[in-house]
Amino acid sequence: MSLNTLQFTDRLTAQLPADPLTENSCRSVENAVYSWVLPTSTSQPSMVNINESFALELGLDTDTQNDPLFTDLMSGNAILEGMKPYALCYGGHQFGQWAGQLGDGRAINLGEINTQKLGFQTLQLKGAGKTPYSRRGDGLAVLRSSIREYLCSEAMYNLGIPTTRALSLALTGDQVIRDKMYDGNADFEPCAVVCRVSPSFLRFGSIQLPASRGDEALVKQLVEFSINNDYPHLAPVDGQFTIETYLNWFKNVCDNTSTMIVHWMRVGFVHGVMNTDNMSLLGETIDYGPYGWIDNFDLGWTPNTTDESQKRYRFGGQFQVSQWNLFQLANAIFPLIGEVEPLQSIMSDYAIIYEQKWQKMMASKLGFVDYQGTTDSAIFSDLENLLARVETDMTLFYRLLSSYSSSKDALQHFKDCYYNPEQLSSDYLQQLTQWLTRYQARLNFDRLESTTRQKNMNSVNPKYVLRNYLAQQAIELAEKGDFSEIETLKSLLAFPYDEQPEYQRYAQKRPDWARDKVGCSMLSCSS
Ligand code: AMP
Ligand code: MG
Repeated sequence: MSLNTLQFTDRLTAQLPADPLTENSCRSVENAVYSWVLPTSTSQPSMVNINESFALELGLDTDTQNDPLFTDLMSGNAILEGMKPYALCYGGHQFGQWAGQLGDGRAINLGEINTQKLGFQTLQLKGAGKTPYSRRGDGLAVLRSSIREYLCSEAMYNLGIPTTRALSLALTGDQVIRDKMYDGNADFEPCAVVCRVSPSFLRFGSIQLPASRGDEALVKQLVEFSINNDYPHLAPVDGQFTIETYLNWFKNVCDNTSTMIVHWMRVGFVHGVMNTDNMSLLGETIDYGPYGWIDNFDLGWTPNTTDESQKRYRFGGQFQVSQWNLFQLANAIFPLIGEVEPLQSIMSDYAIIYEQKWQKMMASKLGFVDYQGTTDSAIFSDLENLLARVETDMTLFYRLLSSYSSSKDALQHFKDCYYNPEQLSSDYLQQLTQWLTRYQARLNFDRLESTTRQKNMNSVNPKYVLRNYLAQQAIELAEKGDFSEIETLKSLLAFPYDEQPEYQRYAQKRPDWARDKVGCSMLSCSS
């Protein structure tokens, strides 16, 4: 399909109220869900990378991808006929505090297409200039954070994790000053635009904002829109929404959210900024900022230096935060329900359902056919204590576990996943051996063929993840004009569960130089 024949449907702008003002200046926007705004054109747009396979799925063939108009479109320098770009209005709790109106300060939705393969998909440019929601920001995104979003969202997708997608990464030709670590060392950085794609960019904060203003009619409209479009199977056939429909919708949002968090825990992903404006109503991973991947297993780790003292968004706290965020969403829709009890009951179930999904996930990581109750729980928690006791690479450990057998020497087998061999005391070794003996006995209970078990384990324990230092290496090369590493990472992370011998070096633990390096283990919200 060529670009000029793309049809834009835009259910959101057709059905929800627009900000009546059309000038592009910062303001409080009330009784509206979005503002019309055009991307800002840039000095010298160029394409850095296209997600070719995803573009094809969207119906954009190779000729279309190579069309110079595609580069212009993906960098905010062209608008197609039928496109009416807009920025969404939403609020959010940031680090536990209500922040009021936030909105798409540097994201502009180009429009929605109805694709044959993937249904409705909205194309959004991140970093395409100021919007009425830019507040004190410049509406721009730098290359380093754009590379991180571009690579990570696709890595997540290929790991089987719900996420927004990324279609392209373009340079704008412009530069902007950023103080990367908020330490007074500001510098010029190249600007980039990522085209993100999702069936819906509505967030918890989209509902929270009108609720905070007492605009019950808009809350109702938004929830009903989300039911009709994000959760069409819940929409009443006669169009008559009831309290039951709203509750069912909330239950489904909870369900998708718990599924997403369990996936994050499975692969060692730490979002880093789980503010309610960064929580998708669809339960997709959204807004890749100072996220990080677990190298050595540590439930207390956060990559986000802005959160260093509180560690609110640490790896092991992601479930509790998701629950807290869902409580805020429950509060926001309370006027539609009128009673506390049914919402409270869904929230109590949330914790139970999360636990069940987590147990099932852990059982699968360990190669068990199914979760078998408290003995398995003890195996899980003892393993986590073991992994945290000495610095152990999470990804490598689970991958090696699949090929362990009792005839092997444990230390020899797992040696590659330890960061500090000097931590391996005889006491630790004894604990590891004891745990492995229990583990073996538990495997014997399942009587699964070991090749089958290994295959099962390797389909949930990735070999390749976007280790923080790998992304940083790609960024440092790209900042010198060499984009090859972006392509390499994209290709290898397309098959994260496969042995890819030619890429073996990407499956190694974090090198020592990256332990405390900015960009590798320390990131800020400056992007
Ligand atoms: P984040 O923590 O990246 O999700 O951003 C929180 C809010 O700040 C959102 O409303 C963003 O749109 C906005 N924001 C972040 N960076 C910028 C920027 N450079 N220019 C304008 N708005 C921004
Ligand atoms: Mg955000």
